[in-house]
Amino acid sequence: LLAGHSSGGVASYHPVLDQQSLRRLQLGTELESAMAEKQITVVFQPIVDTRTSDIVSVETLVRWAHPRYGNVPPDDFIGLAEQIGRIGAVTDYVLDLALERCRKWLDQDIALSVAVNLSARCLAEPDLVDRVRGALRHHGVPGSLLTLELTEGIVVDDSVRNSTVLADLHSLGLRLSMDDFGTGYSSLSQLRQLPIDELKIDKSFVLGMSTSQSESFIARSIVELAHNLGLRVVAEGVEDEVTRDLLAEMGCDKLQGFLVSRPLPDDRLENWLLARTGVRSATPGAPHRRL
Ligand code: C2E
Ligand code: MG
Ligand code: MG
Ligand code: MG
Repeated sequence: LLAGHSSGGVASYHPVLDQQSLRRLQLGTELESAMAEKQITVVFQPIVDTRTSDIVSVETLVRWAHPRYGNVPPDDFIGLAEQIGRIGAVTDYVLDLALERCRKWLDQDIALSVAVNLSARCLAEPDLVDRVRGALRHHGVPGSLLTLELTEGIVVDDSVRNSTVLADLHSLGLRLSMDDFGTGYSSLSQLRQLPIDELKIDKSFVLGMSTSQSESFIARSIVELAHNLGLRVVAEGVEDEVTRDLLAEMGCDKLQGFLVSRPLPDDRLENWLLARTGVRSATPGAPHRRL
């Protein structure tokens, strides 16, 4: 925050806050109140079965509608929240909204599973497993309806591999998904040792598939790798039909991307579900349906 500049050969230092640093500082101090005031919300992006096009899950993605800065993307404040030690609070907030929504669907006899992104830092928090268990209990949502998405980089971190945190999370009955797969450095043996259920092919590969042979080859390799290890595989960033058809031909299990739907606020997701499946609240007591 200190910018030096010299005048007349004598260096003098003035504290200068450039626009970007100022913004970061403000976002950091406002994070807590933004959650309390519901400036921070979540949207849900459908994930569908490649073969049947049935919706199988929704990914919860955080949004910040800032009064002065407009929409601040998660890439601009998740890392910041990590740095200032507030990512645990953001995670709890997002998990709460996701499970609250999941519970409302359950009350309509719709068993739709939700995915929540988990930051690197969260895995090091000693009370993480208790907090996740507590949130599931609080909302009365079975662990089987929750997926936690972890990025590849953190999962291969030694301290994570040497701890029982992933196994403890898994024992809550939830699924663990390795997000942004292909961008990190996990080895085959690491993949085999970890209690991971699913790989998500990073969108950087998927976005290039329709035009690039090599991206397409990488996607195909990841699909085969996942299946050889007994894992499910999801492609994120599916924007066009050519890509969808290629992924279907490769046997990729699930698809997510703008072609299917953009991330939607919950009322619009409800309409999307209705338009697509004709699902309405079923008669009370009817068995939960899997969409
Ligand atoms: P991610 O978990 O890999 O999420 C997928 C990102 O790809 C989302 O960006 C989504 O909007 C975008 N996306 C989905 N389909 C398409 C497509 O067809 N084309 C393109 N170009 N993009 C697509 P978003 O919402 O900006 O989130 C960015 C990242 O921020 C996420 O990547 C995730 O790592 C992080 N993030 C979002 N919400 C949370 C959260 O609640 N907690 C944590 N820890 N991280 C979050
Ligand atoms: Mg994700
Ligand atoms: Mg991803
Ligand atoms: Mg990502």
